[in-house]
Amino acid sequence: MAGSAPPASAGEPAVKALRFGKLVDGKGKVMQDAIVIVRGDRIADVTTDGAKIPAGAEMIDLRHYTAIPGLIDVHTHLTFYWDQTSKVHPFDQLGSPRLPAVSVFLAQENARRTLEAGVTTVRDLGSSNWDDIAMRELINRGAMVGPRMFVAGYGIYVSDAPPRPGYSAPPGGRADSLPDIMRVLREEVAAGVDVVKMYASTGTDKDVTGFQTFTFEEIKAAADLAHKYGKRLAVHSYGPDGARDAVRAGADSIEHATDMDDATISEMARRGTYYVPTIDHNRWYAEHITIFGWEDEKQIADGLNDYIRRNFETARRAFKAGVRFAMGSDALFTMCGENTRELGWFVKLGMTPEQALATATTNAAALLGKEKELGAIAPGYYADIVAIEGDPLADVNVTINNVRWVMKGGAVVADKTVLQNKN
Ligand SMILES: [Zn+2]
Repeated sequence: MAGSAPPASAGEPAVKALRFGKLVDGKGKVMQDAIVIVRGDRIADVTTDGAKIPAGAEMIDLRHYTAIPGLIDVHTHLTFYWDQTSKVHPFDQLGSPRLPAVSVFLAQENARRTLEAGVTTVRDLGSSNWDDIAMRELINRGAMVGPRMFVAGYGIYVSDAPPRPGYSAPPGGRADSLPDIMRVLREEVAAGVDVVKMYASTGTDKDVTGFQTFTFEEIKAAADLAHKYGKRLAVHSYGPDGARDAVRAGADSIEHATDMDDATISEMARRGTYYVPTIDHNRWYAEHITIFGWEDEKQIADGLNDYIRRNFETARRAFKAGVRFAMGSDALFTMCGENTRELGWFVKLGMTPEQALATATTNAAALLGKEKELGAIAPGYYADIVAIEGDPLADVNVTINNVRWVMKGGAVVADKTVLQNKN
């Protein structure tokens, strides 16, 4: 990925020494009184030996805190920005005359809130006008502060679903036949996406139906072509049928997917297909139902809550069956910043806090194909580090609520410790 460009001019990269009361490295190791040496954008060493701190290193004292790896959210929509100075409802703003450049500029707030939640990397699964590609480039060149982004461009979808009727859909990802799928996918790759997203069922925001849209053959064609380009395929399916075919077609991750049958769940476990249930996003919709201008709010809320129940139950069964999970929030609009609440659901369905943390570190990094650079605090990895208050292995809420300081690629991108020390 970009961001690995050599330093523009002569001079050694900056060296920083971070001291933590405790460190959870993401690879199963827990250290007391840990020192992390950061050189440029990478971690050079993790030690308890103060003598190893290079002369002239900038010292950062975080001994009051526990270090965890920068978190990874594998399902976001950062470019979906709700401009609250406008009277227009959130989804209607996306199809409005707002220019792409304006959307990207405004989305900086979503990026900032995401970082403040301790999320230093996202897999952004769907955007219009290549807004996500623009945002990724701006962040990688240092012109915008935000998490490192792996983006999907337009999701590939059939004409009739989703988006729902009345929604002025962007033409970018529409594909109604095998040749269409091949063309759209090649366009996405040419535009520079990191990952391919395909909608294999209906269902989005208030619509919780899960009718299959693409056939097995169509998903298989997308998976094969994506893989040929070295890209992974993320398949959206609200219901079980799209998921059943997507798993067998070779999708790398299944998004949402309620009511999956046992055979599909065991097939996921066997193949190592990642499950990204995104349980919490319907919690967010239900909680903020009045902002959308939807009629029949009560009925929609009932549908969302019923979906949450089935989503949770499916995830519980999948976890029991040994399916690999990655944390995805499906955050958009003001849900950006609440990305890690998904971890609370994971603990509720049976994971230990450590297993939940892994879904947002090592597992998520592996899903991105970046397991040697992201998701752990270890030499050679990106210096993506979060300081939290409390013990994340004892209580998942510590990770969700107690983020105090965030470093991404060796730069401090959020710091609430100063405020705290002053009070
Ligand atoms: Zn999504």
